Amino acid sequence: MSNQRLITELQTHGLKVVNPQTTHVNRQGGAGPSDHQAVTIDGMTVMVPVYTQQAHQSPWSVTHDGAGGSHLLRDAIPVRDISFVSQPNFYRLSTADGVPYSHIATLHGADVLATTVLQTCIRYENRRKACQFCAIGQSLAAGKTIARKTPQQLAEVAKAAVELDGVRHMVMTTGTPSGSDRGARVLCESAEAIRAAVDLPLQGQCEPPGDALWFTRMKEAGIDALGMHLEAVTPAVRARIMPGKAAVTVEQYMAAFKDAVRVFGHGQVSTYILAGLGDTREAILSTARELIDIGVYPFVVPFVPIRGTPLEDHAPPAADFMESILQPLGSMLRGGGLRSADIKAGCGRCGACSPLSSYERASA
Ligand code: SF4
Repeated sequence: MSNQRLITELQTHGLKVVNPQTTHVNRQGGAGPSDHQAVTIDGMTVMVPVYTQQAHQSPWSVTHDGAGGSHLLRDAIPVRDISFVSQPNFYRLSTADGVPYSHIATLHGADVLATTVLQTCIRYENRRKACQFCAIGQSLAAGKTIARKTPQQLAEVAKAAVELDGVRHMVMTTGTPSGSDRGARVLCESAEAIRAAVDLPLQGQCEPPGDALWFTRMKEAGIDALGMHLEAVTPAVRARIMPGKAAVTVEQYMAAFKDAVRVFGHGQVSTYILAGLGDTREAILSTARELIDIGVYPFVVPFVPIRGTPLEDHAPPAADFMESILQPLGSMLRGGGLRSADIKAGCGRCGACSPLSSYERASA
């Protein structure tokens, strides 16, 4: 089985952990995709669902032996050895006023620092308007994070994560505040403080701001790459899955992408597309074509149903469906001159939540 097919299988079925270890890097709660653990396969670190309901029924399982090894099995038959990313050193630290660094930012994949600057969102506050896949309020309710990370806190944690754990880039996402900047303002304030403290490439993630001038402000504040996430591409699917955010139409996103690419450059703007929520293969590929033509990296990710969200019982996509999208998409990206490895910072560069970058490389 090819590595890209193996990653696709694991990210769609999930992985049953027979004897869990508490020292591994995981994502539970938070914005966007969650309930994963960071697994390294053949030198590539990917996020695999382990805490979802579906993972408990997965044909894939892993056992840890007493000597530090982890063995991947399919239907109880050993397939290969894999490893898990260990908790980083900066998790042991707290700020002077007692906030654990891990409540301010977390390690994603192998070398990415990630934070949700505002852990509240105008969309999430009203359950009828909230994105059905999102768990942004869960980690806050569980006391695992704080509602607003100050620029100084982010700078302190970023510096420690670089110095103690060799973190190479950082993702700053945010819940959407009520102002027309859509979160760009807090991203600017955060980026300025982080860049003053440490040399760390940054990706900002927000909804399209009301005024395109925010793209320039974000770039000038030290943000290298930008994510604005469509999540789904068909109007009816968007209206069903994200009743609040769907008010910002695909056309509005496309206009914002063009403005953003002019500021951040070809291939430095990306968008998350969650496959498996109802969009057809054809709809995803045709939107991806449009995005690639304007220089936007379409980061197509298998949808993972998160516990505690309205979609927790929604089936994840089939591995064949994902492959039928990611294989041609890998070639389309190559043809369009867009490479995950060329993105300066963020999810597209990290790539751990999707097999896409391995399909991209396989198409070379
Ligand atoms: S792709 Fe993005 S959300 Fe996923 S692990 Fe990497 S940085 Fe985190």
